[in-house]
Amino acid sequence: MSLRPRVLLLHTGGTLGMRRGPDGSYAPAPGALAELLGRLPELDDPALPSIDLLEEDPLLDSSDMRPTDWQRIADTIVERAAGVEGVVVLHGTDTMAYTASALSFMLEGLAMPVVLTGSQIPLAEIRSDGRENLITSLLLATTPFLAEVVVYLGGAVLRGNRSTKVSAGGFDAFASPNLPPLADVGVDVQWRRALLRAPGLGPGVPGPLRTSRLRDVSVVALRLFPGITGSVLRQVLRDPVRALVLETYGSGNAPTDPDLIAALAEATARGVVIVSVTQCLRGEVRMGDYATGRSLADAGVVSGGDMTAEAALTKLYVLVSQDRSAADVARAMLADRAGERSG
Ligand code: ASP
Repeated sequence: MSLRPRVLLLHTGGTLGMRRGPDGSYAPAPGALAELLGRLPELDDPALPSIDLLEEDPLLDSSDMRPTDWQRIADTIVERAAGVEGVVVLHGTDTMAYTASALSFMLEGLAMPVVLTGSQIPLAEIRSDGRENLITSLLLATTPFLAEVVVYLGGAVLRGNRSTKVSAGGFDAFASPNLPPLADVGVDVQWRRALLRAPGLGPGVPGPLRTSRLRDVSVVALRLFPGITGSVLRQVLRDPVRALVLETYGSGNAPTDPDLIAALAEATARGVVIVSVTQCLRGEVRMGDYATGRSLADAGVVSGGDMTAEAALTKLYVLVSQDRSAADVARAMLADRAGERSG
C-alpha cells in the first residue's frame, strides 16, 4: 500500500494542457494532459504525492471562465476534498486571479491548500514552464500548515485574493503588490509563516468544508478615464446591475464633475453597491485624502482599501448572491473576509 499523500489535480484548461490547432493557435485539448503526465517519470517519485486527475468537460481557455465555472470548481473541491491532502487547480493565467479570489470567498471552513497554477508555454513544448509549476504546486498542496487558496507560478507563492497578472509573457506572470509572497521558492521554500491564514479561517462561521452558492447577479467593473461622463456611468449602472467596482485614480480620486457624482449618488440611493479600488498597482484607496475622493464618499461609494480589482469584483459577486441588503453588502466589503484587505 502506498504511503504517499494524495492530491486532487483538477484540470480546468489553460495553456499548460493546450496543443496547437491546425491554424497554429493554442486551444484546450481534451485527454492531452493525461498523456503528457504519462511522459513525466518524475511524477512516480516517492517525494511527490500521488495524483487523482480530474479533467473538466469542457476544458476552457480561462478567458471563457464565468462565475458558473467558479461554482463548478468550488463544488468539485468540496465533493473530492475528503480523500486528499490538498488540491491543485490547473487553470489559464488570464483570469486565474479572479478564480483564486472567488474560491477564497466561496470556500468556507477550508483547512487544506488549494493551489492554482498554470503556465505560459504548454507542457507539450520543449521550453514549457509548466513542469516546474506543476511539480512545485503538487508539493505545496501537501504543506500541512497551508490552509488557503494560493497562486503559484514562477517562484512565488501568492495569496490568491491578493494576486494579479502582471506579465503577459514572463514566467513570473503574477504579483501580489500589497502583500509579500507567502513563500519564495528557490533552492528552499522560504515561508513567511506570520502571513499565513489559520485552518478553517475562511469566510463564514467555522465548520466543515462547504461552498457558498452563486446566483445569476449583475456585478460590473469600470475603470475611470479622463473624459468619462455622468451619462456613461448611468448607462453602466442601469438595472439589473447590483454592484460596481469603480477603478479610481491614485488614492481613490475621481473627476469632480457634478453630473458624474450625481450619477453615482443616484445609483447608491437605489441600492447599488459601488466600491472604489485604485487603478495603481500598489497602494490603497483613502477617500478622505483629497476633495476629489471625499465627493465619492459623499455619493455613497465604499472604499475598497488595498483590495485588487479582482478581489473586489469576486467578493461583491459572492456577497450579492447571498440574501443581504445593500447596506450589509457595503459593510461586509469594508471588512476583511479571507485576507484580501489590510485593516
Ligand atoms: N489564454 C490562456 C488562458 O488563460 C493563457 C494561459 O493559460 O496562460 O487560458
